[in-house]
Amino acid sequence: MASQKTLGHWIGGKPVESASGTFGPVYDPTTGEQPTRVSLASVEEVDAAVAAAKGALASWSQSSLAKRTAFLFKYRELLDARRDEIAALITAEHGKVHSDALGEVARGMEILELACGIPEKLKGELSTQVSTRVDVASIRQPVGVVAGITPFNFPAMVPMWMFPLAIACGNTFVLKPSEKDPSASYRLAEIAAEAGLPDGVLNVVNGDKVAVDRLLTHPDVAAVSFVGSTPIAKYIQAEATANGKRVQALGGAKNHMMVLPDADLDHAADNAINAAYGSAGERCMAVSVVVAVGDTGDTLVSKIAERAAALRIGPGNDEASEMGPLITREHRDKVASYVKGAADEGAEVVVDGTGLTVPGHENGFFTGVSLLDKVRPGMAAYEDEIFGPVLCVVRAETYDEAITLINSSKWGNGTAIFTRDGGAARRFQLEVEAGMVGVNVPIPVPVGYHSFGGWKQSLFGDLHIYGNDGVQFFTRGKVITTRWPDPSDSAGINLGFPSN
Ligand code: NAD
Repeated sequence: MASQKTLGHWIGGKPVESASGTFGPVYDPTTGEQPTRVSLASVEEVDAAVAAAKGALASWSQSSLAKRTAFLFKYRELLDARRDEIAALITAEHGKVHSDALGEVARGMEILELACGIPEKLKGELSTQVSTRVDVASIRQPVGVVAGITPFNFPAMVPMWMFPLAIACGNTFVLKPSEKDPSASYRLAEIAAEAGLPDGVLNVVNGDKVAVDRLLTHPDVAAVSFVGSTPIAKYIQAEATANGKRVQALGGAKNHMMVLPDADLDHAADNAINAAYGSAGERCMAVSVVVAVGDTGDTLVSKIAERAAALRIGPGNDEASEMGPLITREHRDKVASYVKGAADEGAEVVVDGTGLTVPGHENGFFTGVSLLDKVRPGMAAYEDEIFGPVLCVVRAETYDEAITLINSSKWGNGTAIFTRDGGAARRFQLEVEAGMVGVNVPIPVPVGYHSFGGWKQSLFGDLHIYGNDGVQFFTRGKVITTRWPDPSDSAGINLGFPSN
C-alpha cells in the first residue's frame, strides 16, 4: 500500500496538524485499505477551533451583505468548476458511484445558491406609524458561533446544508465532519479560503465523541446543527439544550413507499429499486419499506426482483457500476445479519445479496442487494434502520391498513405514494405522519429553497434544515420600536403600560 496520508484540522484559515496524537482509520471501501488516517481532536483542539470562530465573529457578523455575497458567488464559481474533484473525494472514502457523488455535490450547491440570495431573506419587516410617530422594525441577526456535526453518508452535501447559510447569515462556523470520510468536508473549507473567506469564519475540526462532546458544552458555541442517527440526534439535543444552545438534530429513518393497485407497477418497481439501492441504501431518504396494497404484492415483488438481479455492483469510480460498497466491513456484516435473520423471523428472502464479492476487490466492503417479502412489524428488519441495500415489502389489504402501518412507525422522515388516483394521493399527503412526502416521487428531498426535515424520531428540535427554516435557525429576531418626537410633542408623565 502507498504511504498513508494524515488529515488534520482546518482552523483559522490554515491546516493544523494533530496535537492529540490520536487518529482514526479512513478506509477506501472499494479496496478495504486505509489510505488515510484522520486526526481525532482533543478538547484543546476543539477549543482552538471555537476560539478561531469566535475571533472572526465580530468582523464577519458586521460585514456588509455585499461582502458576504461576493464571497458566496465566488465560492459557488470555484465549486462549480470542481464538482468532479469533490465527487471523486466522496467516492474514494464513502464508496458511492461517481454519478451519485456528483448528484450529492449538486444538491449541496443548491443551498449555497440559496445563500447567495441571502439579502432577500434578511430584509426584515417594517411597520410605520404603529402609533403617532412610532415605527416598528423586525430584524434578524446572527446567533454567533455555530457548530455543525455531520454523518458519513453525505460528506459534502450535509455540511453544505449548514455552513453556507450559517455564514451567509453572519455567523462563524465549526464543522465536525464524520470521521469515516472527512476529506470532502476539509476540501470544501480549503476552497472557501481560496474564494476569499476570512480566516476563522469556517473551521473544520476532525474527531469523534470527544470533539462532539466539547462542542456541546463549549460556552462560546451558540447553536448546534446535527445530522446523523436517531440515538445520537436525541443525545445531541438533550446535551446541547441542557447547555443553553439552540439545536436542530436530524435523525434516522425508515421510509415507506405505498403502492396502490392502480399504480403503474413498472414505474413503481423502477422507483423502488432506485430509491432502495441507490448509494447502497445509505441514504436517510432511502425507501426501505414498500407497502404493497391490495393485489399488487406478487407482481410488484417479481418486478423488483427481476430488476435487482440486473444491477451492476462494483467500484464507485468505474462508470459501469450502479452501486458501490458499504462504508465499513462491520457495517456490511451488520447489514447481512438482518438478511440472515429475516428468514428465521418468518419473512421471505426473495433476493439474498449477502456474501457478494467483486472480482479484483475481494477485500472491499461490497454486498449485493437484498429483497425481503412478507415482512411484518415486530421483525428486526422492519423495526431497525438497516442503512444498507435491503428492501422490505410489507403487504396490506387496503389503503387504510397501509396508512395505519406507516403512521405507526417511530420515524417520520420521508414517505411516498405511487398511484394514478389524485383523490387517494391527496388523502395521503394530508393524513401521513412524515415531514417530506412524495407523490409518484420516491425520494422527496426538498429543493434548497424549501426546508428538509422529518417528524417523530427523525428530527429533534423545532426547525427543519435549510430553506426558510435554515435562515430562522441561524438568526435570532430583534424588534425595534422607534419614536422620533416632533419638537411640539411632550411626553408627559404616565406610569401606565404603553398602549397605542
Ligand atoms: P452517526 O450518528 O453515527 O454519526 C453522526 C455524527 O455524530 C458523526 O459526526 C459522529 O462522529 C458523531 N457521533 C457518533 N457517535 C457519537 C457519540 N456517541 N457521541 C457524540 N457524537 C457521536 O451517524 P452516521 O452513521 O455517520 O450516519 C448515518 C445516520 O445518519 C443514519 O441514521 C441516517 O439516517 C442519518 N442521516 C439522517 C439524515 C437526515 O436528514 N435526517 C441525513 C443523513 C443521514
